[in-house]
Amino acid sequence: MTDNLSLQQLENNDAFVQRHIGPDEAEQQHMLATLGATSLDELIAQTVPENILLEKPMQIGDAQTEESVLGYLKQVASQNKLYKSYIGMGYSDTLVPNVILRNVMENPGWYTAYTPYQPEIAQGRLQSLLNYQQMVVDLTGLEMANASLLDEGTAAAEAMALSKRVSKNKKSNVYFIADDVHPQTINVVKTRAEMFGFEVLVAPAKDAADADVFGALFQYPSTTGEITDLTDLIAAVQAKKGIASVAADILSLTLLKAPGELGADVVLGSSQRFGVPLGYGGPHAAFFATRDKFKRSLPGRIIGVSQDTRGNQALRMALQTREQHIRREKANSNICTAQVLLANMAVFYAIYHGPEGLKQIAQRVNRLTTILATGLQAKGFELAHDTWFDTITLNVGDKKSALVEKALANEINFRTDLDGQIGISVDETTSASDIAQLFDVLIGEGHGLDIDAIDAQITSESISSIPAELVRQSDFLTNEVFNTHHSETEMLRYIKHLESKDLALNHSMISLGSCTMKLNATAEMIPVTWPEFASLHPFVPVDQAKGYQQMITELSDWLVEATGYDALSMQPNSGAQGEYAGLLAIQKYHESRGDTHRNVCLIPSSAHGTNPASAQMASMKVVVVKCDAKGNVDMDDLREKAEQVSENLSCIMITYPSTHGVYEETIREICDLVHAHGGQVYMDGANMNAQVGVTSPGFIGSDVSHLNLHKTFCIPHGGGGPGMGPIGVKSHLAPFLPDHPVINVDQTTSGNGAVSAAPWGSAGILPISWVYIALMGGQGLRKATQVAILSANYMAKRLEEHFPILYTGRNDKVAHECIIDLRPLKEASGITEMDVAKRLMDYGFHAPTMSFPVAGTLMVEPTESEPLSEIDRFVDALIAIRKEIAQVESGEWTLEDNPLHNAPHTMADLVDANWSRNYSRELAVFPTAQAATNKFWPTVNRIDDVYGDRNLVCTCPSTESYAEE
Ligand SMILES: *Cc1c(COP(=O)(O)O)cnc(C)c1O
Repeated sequence: MTDNLSLQQLENNDAFVQRHIGPDEAEQQHMLATLGATSLDELIAQTVPENILLEKPMQIGDAQTEESVLGYLKQVASQNKLYKSYIGMGYSDTLVPNVILRNVMENPGWYTAYTPYQPEIAQGRLQSLLNYQQMVVDLTGLEMANASLLDEGTAAAEAMALSKRVSKNKKSNVYFIADDVHPQTINVVKTRAEMFGFEVLVAPAKDAADADVFGALFQYPSTTGEITDLTDLIAAVQAKKGIASVAADILSLTLLKAPGELGADVVLGSSQRFGVPLGYGGPHAAFFATRDKFKRSLPGRIIGVSQDTRGNQALRMALQTREQHIRREKANSNICTAQVLLANMAVFYAIYHGPEGLKQIAQRVNRLTTILATGLQAKGFELAHDTWFDTITLNVGDKKSALVEKALANEINFRTDLDGQIGISVDETTSASDIAQLFDVLIGEGHGLDIDAIDAQITSESISSIPAELVRQSDFLTNEVFNTHHSETEMLRYIKHLESKDLALNHSMISLGSCTMKLNATAEMIPVTWPEFASLHPFVPVDQAKGYQQMITELSDWLVEATGYDALSMQPNSGAQGEYAGLLAIQKYHESRGDTHRNVCLIPSSAHGTNPASAQMASMKVVVVKCDAKGNVDMDDLREKAEQVSENLSCIMITYPSTHGVYEETIREICDLVHAHGGQVYMDGANMNAQVGVTSPGFIGSDVSHLNLHKTFCIPHGGGGPGMGPIGVKSHLAPFLPDHPVINVDQTTSGNGAVSAAPWGSAGILPISWVYIALMGGQGLRKATQVAILSANYMAKRLEEHFPILYTGRNDKVAHECIIDLRPLKEASGITEMDVAKRLMDYGFHAPTMSFPVAGTLMVEPTESEPLSEIDRFVDALIAIRKEIAQVESGEWTLEDNPLHNAPHTMADLVDANWSRNYSRELAVFPTAQAATNKFWPTVNRIDDVYGDRNLVCTCPSTESYAEE
């Protein structure tokens, strides 16, 4: 090292790229040397098929420092205008309790965890999600709830799909939607229905009484604020064997009779207003509850109570046989990533306030609304309804545009999409002075109304806006957890208590193949909670969201460049949702050419479960294509199948590099073959981390892909969501991208229908990917891909002496991940992949992806962000575990009494007075000196999956049942 560096060299010292990428230059050289390569470019040439290597670098600009990127983005964000929004329509501003903002939303202990596939080191968020399910069950008055869906619109679409599955009215193909459901919900459900081939009837709610339908959806309170007793309509639908669903406002349920008590079969909605920022549309968690008898038809993840090997209560994901990763095209839905972080925030909000606190927030919101309504009526305004919770709709006729203009001039947004009416929704952030301002704007100065006087009148006359028969009588949130943590000290400690049970990226690497658990840099996260991004309602006039529009356009342009496509839709809010949107575009394209019969989707057997599940949602027929002995698509089988279905071929869904972790040499041939049969190529972009800057889907020849921004582009996984799944398309598919019924996202796509409730999906987390790309620049992104490939190959190289690497491509190289095959060891020793996965916990690691895409294997993906020391530590742990397996093979340990079979080990093991195992406690809990210095304690022993599904409990057990143990 020299002491006389130039200014530029000194400035480069602070480059972000070198912090994002784990191994430094010297370490990269060392890793390259073990692989017989001298440079990253040489390694890429040895690994990636020549005919797909990009010919010119991406045009994405130069890498920048954190300071300059955040400075620029702050300026962009400040173009967003933070008006007071009374728009409602399922989105309400909320006060995020600061203790939750900082310690959950902004805390990597919560936001960098993955879906709780390894429940022994995920009991914290599992507990929190169980609390969430309890909260939903209580508020909705139903029996079973899942742990979140993507948004209210898609939850309603899932309710329709569930209705079709369980309804005994098998003759009807019609789904009824009350016309006073939120417009974006109607639109999302219609899009879904069209693809399923269901008919949709949108009509006044009362018409449901006479309709012969397999299901019906109502909104409670209605989109314009009315509260009606749905009991008779629900009964009428059920009398004809239809399933009745109710979309409800979560805060209102603290005051209103629960829809479950009105007889509803399904209750759904958004939990956003429980302390989750608006974020210009998301991410927010949708809730979904149903009757116990429909539990096997529930979409999404469900948390259940089970027990561990010591008989202690332990939590896990229940009834997974409903889900896409097991049931594939027969799954209940394609949902994979959901909204775990936001569900957790919502339930922490409920815990923070408690049932009384929530009720008072609701009462305050309702009281302010009543004051507003009373004052306006006194001044001659006509209300559309005489009941309300937080929303009133004014019949203003031809005065509408003048009133809206005046409001805008006062930095106020009303709901404006209703003919001759304006809607006003009050929320937790609304104050009495805001109501006074509304009087000024709507009536004019000098109106003489006095808030306190109106309030006194309401109190003394007991004026109620809620029909007496719909006032909630039943208790809710009686469980202890909702009634104890009301001081900030207790709240802070409860959050920390749960956090500390969970292994996240801030402890050690999570090498989950296919999931790309890379660094989520702090600089990327910071803008998410800037008010300029966090506080915008999704339906504000677009000219108030110029900052968002600029950021989204820039991000979109970069992603178009990185994918080699021509256009992009930012609407899908998960990878699976992107698949669905992409397949929809393909089907609409075929239709536009008169090819309505093209409905076959070819899917290689190695595909992710969401692929066949999404194809099913697009009413496609899935034809599985075999893989050959090397893990590649069996070209003969593909040729044969494509030939067989040629006439009716819609598309192929293919992941690249393959889910087997290799760059298939025949990918261009595959694209050509499918095109020759008139089909389209859907390339699953979840593995873009092995493509960016090196090759691209568009360049390879595919037509459409989704991108998992929560994998390749640094959005953290949040413990199982949020995510974003925008889709890129070639120009011929661009006219078939989603639109939106409330906000015009793109003139050219109008009429296609929405796939998500919000126009730009979970726009609130897009700054993360934007900052990542801006920090890395085109070259940095390419380098990240190269190092991801380097690290995977280095790891494969070190492991191959100890475990067979199942598949490799050219020059024996893997792509960005590799599969280690444990089946031979299982054969020889009886030790399973599960034993290895659990034993890794004792060494302080989260297991890699288990038994996907091949049963009996582990799939490891280190990503570019893991430093060499961590990669080596992980490999060393696996090698040590291999030696332990050898001791079982040799008979030194029996199959029942060895540290693998009994893993993970807990503190209960360490202090067990009756320890009588054939190995020491030290070996059990501190297998290496390194594990001892950075110990992560699983809080439960191995969990019994079967017990949990047999004895299904999906709400919080009472304190007594914990005490019984
Ligand atoms: C993660 C993944 C998906 C699904 O993405 P979600 O955001 O979880 O819906 C699809 N395909 C592959 C290959 C994946 O790894």
